[in-house]
Amino acid sequence: MIRLADPALGEAEIEQASEVLRSGHLVQGARVAAFEGALGAFLGVPNALAASSGTAALHLALLALGVGPGDAVLVPAFTFPATANVVELVGARPVFVDVKPDTYCLDPNLFDRAIDEWDGPERLRAAIPVHEFGAPCDLAALGARADRAGLVLVEDAACALGTRWQGRHVGTFGALGCFSWHPRKAITTGEGGAVCTADPALAERVALLRNHGIRRGGAEGWDLVLPGLNYRLTEFQAALGQGQLARFGETLALRRELVAHYRQSLEGVPGLRLPAKVEGHAWQTFMVVLPPGVERSAVAARLHADGIEAGAGAQAVPLLTYYREKYALPADRFPVAAELFRQGLALPLHPRLTPRDVARVATSLRKALSP
Ligand SMILES: *Cc1c(COP(=O)(O)O)cnc(C)c1O
Repeated sequence: MIRLADPALGEAEIEQASEVLRSGHLVQGARVAAFEGALGAFLGVPNALAASSGTAALHLALLALGVGPGDAVLVPAFTFPATANVVELVGARPVFVDVKPDTYCLDPNLFDRAIDEWDGPERLRAAIPVHEFGAPCDLAALGARADRAGLVLVEDAACALGTRWQGRHVGTFGALGCFSWHPRKAITTGEGGAVCTADPALAERVALLRNHGIRRGGAEGWDLVLPGLNYRLTEFQAALGQGQLARFGETLALRRELVAHYRQSLEGVPGLRLPAKVEGHAWQTFMVVLPPGVERSAVAARLHADGIEAGAGAQAVPLLTYYREKYALPADRFPVAAELFRQGLALPLHPRLTPRDVARVATSLRKALSP
């Protein structure tokens, strides 16, 4: 079976994680601090804080900013539901904005329009652009508009380790940037994530919030200064993450090479849309868009019969039951997200894949699409 994603843990990091397990020091400590240091150095950001998942990272970011009831937050209509869920969970209102049909990221024109047309009653406080599948959002356009409107940017870079916008790592442009280390992402700790920020005050709030609100020091050794959560990463997870991060340059090059092979073998297939070529893309996922009228489940079944795993890429979140029922948004409000949700097909992409595997996938897909 050619898997959609395949976490490529190396023997070196497995050995490192085992050593941590044997040491008996299991929860957040020196290994987490080392992983955070390596991540901050890789991204070029002064504060990188590990968290227990990408969702936890996003939740911590909104809590640190004090986003809550009475606030509204702009989010893309095509993403993994966690982006909108954390907004709901802090008591704010997600405001969905459609994405671009070729990058699958927030459309800056629609972002502008959503801000212009916003008439409350909530106060627009923040925006969470998603670097979907590793494609960098147009941070120049979104950032400038967010600044003018007084919105805080939180980057959802869950899929975007190694992604760059105009040469600089994404996740370092917003007030906070959030990453995920889920097995579907480019490096994995099983579950895991991180929050990055250049702002020391925000970093301190994130650190407090992920560890119950406990501040160390003082006469008693520690004190509780706000109600927090337990969103810590473990030591053995940090060992796994640090090992993969150390050789991430190779992983990234391999992913880009495989995508070039996909393009070569799939360009010119009638009606099939390939994702845009974008400078700085880290290719966490390679999602094509099937021609109108072609049923994705039928194509996925044909690929499966050839030993290939493929499936939906992300969700049109405002069309999912909870959001559809709560906000009763018109079904045709997000035509691009709806199409990507219906017709998007994520193809296998991971470092264990070979160019021959890519050729097999492409042949199988061509066959499934030929009349
Ligand atoms: C994976 C993902 C998340 C959630 O990350 P977890 O680590 O699974 O909690 C959030 N946003 C986006 C865009 C993602 O792809």
